[in-house]
Amino acid sequence: MKRVIALVDCNNFFVSCERLLKPELIGKPVCVLSNNDGCVVSRSNEAKKMGVNMGAPYFMIKNQFKKVIFLSGNLPFYCEISKRIMNKLYDYTPDVEVYSIDEAFLDLTGLRKTFKCPYEDIIKKIAEDIKIEIGIDVSVGLSYSKVLAKLACEKTKNLQKTLKDEFINKKTYKIGYREIENELKATLISDIWGIGKNTNAFLKKHLIQTAWDFATQEDIWLKKNLGKIGLDLKQELLGNSINPVKSTQDAPKSVSRSESFKEFQTDKNYIQKELNSHIHKVCKKLRSLNLLTGCVSVMLRTKDFQVSDIKINLINPVNSEFELVEHAKEILNKIFKNGVVYRSVGFCAMKLSPSEERQISIFDGENSIKKENLSKSWDKLEEKFGKGIIKLGIK
Ligand SMILES: [Mg+2]
Repeated sequence: MKRVIALVDCNNFFVSCERLLKPELIGKPVCVLSNNDGCVVSRSNEAKKMGVNMGAPYFMIKNQFKKVIFLSGNLPFYCEISKRIMNKLYDYTPDVEVYSIDEAFLDLTGLRKTFKCPYEDIIKKIAEDIKIEIGIDVSVGLSYSKVLAKLACEKTKNLQKTLKDEFINKKTYKIGYREIENELKATLISDIWGIGKNTNAFLKKHLIQTAWDFATQEDIWLKKNLGKIGLDLKQELLGNSINPVKSTQDAPKSVSRSESFKEFQTDKNYIQKELNSHIHKVCKKLRSLNLLTGCVSVMLRTKDFQVSDIKINLINPVNSEFELVEHAKEILNKIFKNGVVYRSVGFCAMKLSPSEERQISIFDGENSIKKENLSKSWDKLEEKFGKGIIKLGIK
């Protein structure tokens, strides 16, 4: 299947992070140094322009570049910013592969319909949102494979570097099918992601200079000389995704919600209503992650912090509140005691499995799907009119 893949890459990441803390550094030549101030690991555009090289040992260049501001690295802070950026990416798709501290691949296939706009607009929005919400400039490359997305991202950066006004704020670049041939003809094979020095030397010997030369080689020759990697790279260059975006988000083991009541409670109906609201939030989360639950529990906590809970296994995994409310009610009836003063109620969904793996029981299949569709409509209504537009009643 054809994929649409984007690479999001932060510009001069460590320097950009430092500028969040010290805005006075904006517009100045700044470099961030590695551990123990060994060498340059991140440069502002101004420092690049002055000729500071990546990886240059600090002790060798500090006298040569007196105007450059050299800073010691602050890795925990950069990790924190990185985490915020990566979390933001999950707002657009769960298919995010965090590739390094400042780079991530996104599989956007199909999202044109979800967002009702072209893919180019989605990546522009991603770049804008990250700039506005986190304050970091990113470049985004868009194409049909990881290799082409990476190339598109490099193109964005190259355009920014030309320092022509029209490109300085350019954040995104797309390589569409019609552009592939010309882009590859204009790109040296050594500039393609994954081509190392030795491979490049070998290819040069066989007069393969550009990425297009590579992409038009016979399969037999590639297989014989470079093996499967060579064949895969050819396909990736032609826009056929061979290496999929591998989501690095760990699927959660459980999803739960609980909250203390505004006032201590002895009223079962009140508790049931609160519980239903938690169930809705849990189900919404499950649907957003494309997960089903096969085991749920209800937890009641008394004023004196005594906990009672029961969990039950479900015959069919689900993520619809209309099903879970029934099970939860059953549990509540068992653990609730008249006269006891409660402080909170919680709901937890466990034994999570991907929605695609669902097996619908022949007895209840149709009914389950109806309930699930109803739940999805609920999500859409909330999207449109805000949270809490609908609440589950109690029977
Ligand atoms: Mg970067």
